[in-house]
Amino acid sequence: MAELPLDCLTCGACCREGSDGRILVPAQDLVRWRRAGREDLIAALQPGHFGEQAFATTPEGACVHLGTPDQPNACRIYPLRGTTCREFEVGSWQCLEYRRQHGITA
Ligand code: SF4
Ligand code: SF4
Repeated sequence: MAELPLDCLTCGACCREGSDGRILVPAQDLVRWRRAGREDLIAALQPGHFGEQAFATTPEGACVHLGTPDQPNACRIYPLRGTTCREFEVGSWQCLEYRRQHGITA
């Protein structure tokens, strides 16, 4: 029997791995957001590691765009989410490690 894919909406661990400056935002995202008229997303960034920009985080270390009123693990800017977010692979070793760190074992 094929394994079920991991359900990100019951997890959100990778979006809670922020601690300031860790979820990097490459320059191509700034171009994309400007074209979409979302200068507000650019204004909300903060300095990240390696001289890059990054998503700002809450005091708890979660990305400021995480969570909707109905779904605490949903991304509020999902169609415009960052390249780092798009390229993060569900089920990768890093995904599994983040889940483990957040006590999500199922
Ligand atoms: S850690 Fe993995 S399963 Fe959890 S939200 Fe991120 S990609 Fe999805
Ligand atoms: S932009 Fe969305 S997908 Fe990316 S880290 Fe923030 S909440 Fe998660």
